[in-house]
Amino acid sequence: MSYDPSNIFAKILRGEIPSKPVYQSDHVLAFPDISPRAPVHILIIPKGAYVSAQDFSQNASPAEKIAFIDAIGAIAAEQGVAETGYRLIANTGAHGHQEVPHFHLHLIGGRALGSMLPHD
Ligand code: 5GP
Repeated sequence: MSYDPSNIFAKILRGEIPSKPVYQSDHVLAFPDISPRAPVHILIIPKGAYVSAQDFSQNASPAEKIAFIDAIGAIAAEQGVAETGYRLIANTGAHGHQEVPHFHLHLIGGRALGSMLPHD
């Protein structure tokens, strides 16, 4: 799947749609989800044009990958959930029910989140 630069997160990165960044580095931007599922619900995105976790895993540079992993811990600490815990979700592709085709990680916490997924 090729990258569609008209997706909503590309527009946020270009400043065409407002967001309230909670974290920013050379390679990463993070901002609150517009429809939060928990008291803390942050979207972490690479600044590079990657469609999905699969695309990012296979095509991002080492510097981009390191910056992304670094961001997770920094954001969790800043959001006050490093000790209480949180969940990271990367919905990927059709079966993953990914809605926005720019790779993003949901960092969700601030309350007990229950078990992961129901068993089949
Ligand atoms: P996905 O299903 O692709 O993993 O999740 C996309 C997420 O993007 C959803 O949780 C949705 O609430 C969020 N979202 C969609 N449009 C916007 C927007 O314009 N601003 C922000 N901050 N979040 C958005």
